[in-house]
Amino acid sequence: MTRIAQPLIQFTKQPYIEDVGPHKIESIQFSTFGEFEILKAVEVQVYRSVYYDSAKKSWENGLLDPHMGPANKNGICETCLGTLENVQGTTDI
Ligand SMILES: [Zn+2]
Repeated sequence: MTRIAQPLIQFTKQPYIEDVGPHKIESIQFSTFGEFEILKAVEVQVYRSVYYDSAKKSWENGLLDPHMGPANKNGICETCLGTLENVQGTTDI
């Protein structure tokens, strides 16, 4: 039986970082929605500067309108019926 000489493996605690050289980004393009794109995507018009009514329910057309997602852990989104865990487009509370 002949053994083929293997290169020595050097074990370290350093993370392996592949050196592929610098990457060059050729271009980046940013844009914003236009007026008509925003109107097509809109779910609710917010024109009240209030959060909750006296019964602690979020106001329709208010800053926490339920069409924009649940306002708390127990609420649901009235647009997609999602909860805080699975609704899209809602930040964590
Ligand atoms: Zn939703």
